[in-house]
Amino acid sequence: IGRSRATDYFHIGDQLTDDERDYWRRARDFVDDEVLPVINSYWENAEFPWPLIAALGRRGLVGDGIEGYGCPPMSPMASGLIAMELNRGDGSVGTFLGVQAGLAMQSIAMLGSEDQKRHYLPRMARLETIGAFALTEPRHGSDSVALETRARRDGDTWLLDGAKKWIGNGTIADVLVVWARDEDDGRVKGFLVEKDSPGLETRRIDGKGSLRAVWQAHITLRGVRVPDDARLPGARSFKDTGRVLAGTRNEVAWSALGHAVAAYDIAATYCAQREQFGKPLVSFQIVQEKLVEMLAEVCSMQLYCLRLARLMEEGKLTDTIAALAKRNNTVKARAVIAEARDLLGGNGILLDFHVMRHMADIEAIHTYEGTATIQTLIVGRDITGVTAFT
Ligand code: FAD
Repeated sequence: IGRSRATDYFHIGDQLTDDERDYWRRARDFVDDEVLPVINSYWENAEFPWPLIAALGRRGLVGDGIEGYGCPPMSPMASGLIAMELNRGDGSVGTFLGVQAGLAMQSIAMLGSEDQKRHYLPRMARLETIGAFALTEPRHGSDSVALETRARRDGDTWLLDGAKKWIGNGTIADVLVVWARDEDDGRVKGFLVEKDSPGLETRRIDGKGSLRAVWQAHITLRGVRVPDDARLPGARSFKDTGRVLAGTRNEVAWSALGHAVAAYDIAATYCAQREQFGKPLVSFQIVQEKLVEMLAEVCSMQLYCLRLARLMEEGKLTDTIAALAKRNNTVKARAVIAEARDLLGGNGILLDFHVMRHMADIEAIHTYEGTATIQTLIVGRDITGVTAFT
């Protein structure tokens, strides 16, 4: 499950069903034909790649394995392969998919009412409706469990007040899943807030050195009124938010694999062609060792992903397993990409060679959905029974 046989050293691709292979091929074609030829200029200019997103919507790849409601039917493996491929192309496009399908659509699919699912999911799968997931706040990132945005019941409606930060698609979303604390019972609940709601203000975060082709937002909510039927009925406490996050941490593990595959593939090709001291770089032992170490990490990431998909199929994927996989794969991807950048010499910092973009983008991926440190603490608590967060 890499770019080619060279990056699928353990023949994991042989384990795929025809259907999964088909999704993989379609995602790969989209990346090779449409993303890679144009993405660098979007990244450099910090422009959102609207034409690519429209094309992605037409390819029937968005749905994250949600059953029904106009979502393309796909196994967890197929869904992971799509995340892997989009990120092999570009982290911004991959992150867009993660927010749209993994966070916003899954919140509605997992916690929404029948009416909410029917209303939003089909259009979201076609990318005619764009979603966002507003959890993080200026004062609460890793400890988003302590979020301060308030929800006050007022008859048949709710009033939302607070601030959010880092919200992917925040300025372009048609609907935002906003997480807020019920003033009455102190529990975290989820609300579907439509764009243009009075009191909702979104502002793009500029000046990013990572994921430049996708936008995040600062959001302010001042007395935003939402009807009670826009509340996610299945979101009763922060534990329910956590169920959505466990799924997306799985997806981030696949995304990190995509970045590492891209970097390894580019470095291996480059080292075969580039000559120094009268010989191709691949003829030097130290270069071979670096390539083998990179491949070993890529293979271990693939094996994690294969197992994640199977555990998900069997309904056995826990938040702690997803946390360990997110940690493992983002940490390893970061190291593989840094090595690839080194092997490309000066060209390694040019966007034309793509590795620098992956190197910058993996920094955000390493942080979002909970930093590697936070994943470590989650797994640490699981294996020791002792909480070390505070
Ligand atoms: P902090 O929580 O302030 O962490 C800073 C440092 O302290 C980190 O190294 C962290 O590991 C460390 N740290 C924190 N607590 C502990 C501890 N107990 N022990 C040891 N070390 C600790 N959020 C959304 O809700 N929706 C989105 O769509 C979204 N998209 C994002 C996109 C991007 C590009 C980025 C960068 C972020 C996005 N986020 C989003 C927010 C993201 O999930 C948070 O940035 C992340 O959880 C970290 O929170 P923070 O930035 O506040 O860092």
